[in-house]
Amino acid sequence: MFEQGAIRPPNEAGSLLVRVTRNCPWNRCRICPPFKGLKFSLRPVEEVKKDIDEMAAVYPTGSGGPESAFLQDADSLVVSTDKLLEIIGHIRKRFPSVRRVTTYARAKTMKRKSIEDLKRLKAAGLTRIHSGMESGSASVLALIRKGNTPDDILSGGLQVVSSGISLSEYIMPGVGGRRYSEEHARETAKILNRIRPDFIRVRTMAVHPLSPLERLISEGAFEPMTDAEVVAEIRLLLEHLDEMPAHFRCGDFSLNLLMQADGRLDRDRRAMIAETDRFLSLDPLRQKAFSLIQRSYPGMVSLDVVNDAELMEEAGMEIERLEASAPDGFNRAIRSLMARQLPPLPSDTWPE
Ligand code: SF4
Repeated sequence: MFEQGAIRPPNEAGSLLVRVTRNCPWNRCRICPPFKGLKFSLRPVEEVKKDIDEMAAVYPTGSGGPESAFLQDADSLVVSTDKLLEIIGHIRKRFPSVRRVTTYARAKTMKRKSIEDLKRLKAAGLTRIHSGMESGSASVLALIRKGNTPDDILSGGLQVVSSGISLSEYIMPGVGGRRYSEEHARETAKILNRIRPDFIRVRTMAVHPLSPLERLISEGAFEPMTDAEVVAEIRLLLEHLDEMPAHFRCGDFSLNLLMQADGRLDRDRRAMIAETDRFLSLDPLRQKAFSLIQRSYPGMVSLDVVNDAELMEEAGMEIERLEASAPDGFNRAIRSLMARQLPPLPSDTWPE
């Protein structure tokens, strides 16, 4: 039976998942549970091709077959270009229905590939790279042990964009905590304005209860932000982003409180800022009620929900109960609801 990895971007749900490496070659980020404790390995090309053959025996390959394939796991560009070309060629031979091939890659790895190699990959069918930059701030990147500098992110991103491969950059509001919030928003916008990726995908931070960040919170060394503070941070980021032809996406990830802040920066930036302002202009009780409702029923929730008197009364009682349950009880409860949406940790410890 063919192998499949633990994660893929949400918009690759219908893609053929082809595992070219196992786990993450870096694996030290303090924000990311799914590979912790698991060893990275490259898979021999023959083994990957055998998986593709087995998938072709199970799934339709021509009309009605998958139109896209996603190369797993966390950083497929670590594989040599020649090997990747052989794998992509085999996917397209066995699945003539496949039109797009996409993958995750780390900034440092993108930077290491030459533009010529990236262009060869594009010509073979690699159409998009998804990359988790998280932040453009050096302080934040060091705090979360991202293993990339702002310069790695900039160089790697520019390299991909100039090869013609579509680039999707993932950013993480809240990840700098209160201390770095403003720097995080400004520096992230600065780098994105220079890279000009096709997609900016927003992934609001949630803290896994076993992660080192949770320990830093309990020691008082990391101050987690409230939902309202994170919305203000996203507003600041939007203020500093250029009106470029990039999609700014909150709508594809339910850990984003305001999923409706979603659109193209050259067309909808003002409307997205207005959406954050709508939330920020609510009184604190209504802001909390909205957070509680959206965190309890993750998905696109209209801000109009705070005009429902019956729901507000119920939410108000629950907020009071949570506030009284522990110091900072409401925000703790919101953090714990958010952590439920994270991918599971493979073992019962989080190695530092
Ligand atoms: S965030 Fe990306 S680079 Fe960091 S450990 Fe997770 S998969 Fe690896």
